[in-house]
Amino acid sequence: MIRTPSVDVLVIGAGAAGMMCAVEAGKRGRSVLVVDHADAPGEKIRISGGGRCNFTNLGCSPKNFLSQNPRFAISALARYTQHDFIALVDRHRIAWHEKTLGQLFCDGSAKQIIAMLTEEMERAGAVLRLSTAIDDIVRTEEGFDVRLSGRDVRCTSLVVASGGKSIPKMGATGLAYDIAERFGLAVVPPRPALVPLTFGPAMLARLSPLAGIAVEEAEVGHGKTRFREAVLFTHRGLSGPAVLQISSYWRDGEDIVVSLAPGVNVLEGLRAARARHGRQAVQTVLAEILPKRLAQAIVEAEGITGNLADCSDKVLARIDQAVSAWRIRPEGTEGWRTAEVTLGGVDTAGLDQQTMAAKAVPGLFFVGEAVDVTGWLGGYNFQWAWSSGWAAGQAA
Ligand SMILES: Cc1cc2nc3c(=O)[nH]c(=O)nc-3n(C[C@H](O)[C@H](O)[C@H](O)COP(=O)(O)OP(=O)(O)OC[C@H]3O[C@@H](n4cnc5c(N)ncnc54)[C@H](O)[C@@H]3O)c2cc1C
Repeated sequence: MIRTPSVDVLVIGAGAAGMMCAVEAGKRGRSVLVVDHADAPGEKIRISGGGRCNFTNLGCSPKNFLSQNPRFAISALARYTQHDFIALVDRHRIAWHEKTLGQLFCDGSAKQIIAMLTEEMERAGAVLRLSTAIDDIVRTEEGFDVRLSGRDVRCTSLVVASGGKSIPKMGATGLAYDIAERFGLAVVPPRPALVPLTFGPAMLARLSPLAGIAVEEAEVGHGKTRFREAVLFTHRGLSGPAVLQISSYWRDGEDIVVSLAPGVNVLEGLRAARARHGRQAVQTVLAEILPKRLAQAIVEAEGITGNLADCSDKVLARIDQAVSAWRIRPEGTEGWRTAEVTLGGVDTAGLDQQTMAAKAVPGLFFVGEAVDVTGWLGGYNFQWAWSSGWAAGQAA
């Protein structure tokens, strides 16, 4: 009779969280097998940050994350911090720089982060098996029997690190949610996040001629949440960092408010300009603070034909409103095809915040994007992957 091969820890998913977990479990002397259906590890790391991987953020703290339980991430983020990951990157002599807002990128290539993790796995004795499908998972008395591309493997700890649903073309699947539900864990409905917002036909007819225009510093708000970063007009709606950030907060049927010139008192500026140079065209004055084509589009949309002297206070207030508090109702998002991350996921209520273990299923762990913890844009999502993977690696 052939005995089923066994390992202490089986990790499903050779992404950021899975590889980090494998390294840590391996260092503790556990035998570790990491499996992935892709033919290379860390594919999302490879394409992240425009190929340079925004691997963490200097200012990372629990307030940069969304979850139904915002306190869940505190423990893992505190026990394995951005500074721990930076120290690892430094030990591997990977050069990096801060781009903006605490965001750290490799000077060279994101591939250096993948090489670092695979090297660490090798050193810790973790084995990587690629192009492998997960056919079935059965719970046993000692742990789990998992059928991998037709071959059974037995494990005492099963770590699900298969990510979320964003970008199916990159190998994303809903496997983690299926496993969670199968073992009785709740799943917060996943939805695309850090994703461009789209407009309906009427709005698009007006705005698509502006496609390609960027406002370097805008402020986009939803409720009390605000992000001050760039906004980009696209053929389908709005994109750019500030819009991606707010997309994680926005829900169908709600408005967002955009200030195209935050910190500028537009009304006062227009009044002063009217007093001094009444014969100036309105768009000429607006073009001092906005891209020219955008200034022109705003003036046209407000139906203004004359020059500044012809504009009443009421008209100037309308222009101010259009620039400083432009209220829009997006029709939707670009969806999973372009979403950088998944909002929602395995409900943290069923997980132990110290270890990422399923409270009701001994030996089962969920880490990374699969869990209902979603970071802002700017390196936070990788930090969650490192921190949650590390936490599970201490216990699996
Ligand atoms: C274009 C893009 C750019 C990004 N840039 C950044 C950035 O610069 N900084 C940042 O912090 N975050 C960034 N992110 C987000 C970041 O990539 C993710 O949050 C992070 O990769 C999540 O890590 P993870 O290990 O949980 O999941 P993943 O990295 O998605 O890894 C999951 C692994 O599981 C495997 N898998 C999935 N389903 C199955 C299955 N059914 N069977 C077997 N294996 C399976 C996948 O092949 C994959 O290797 C970016 C995302 C995208 C899409």
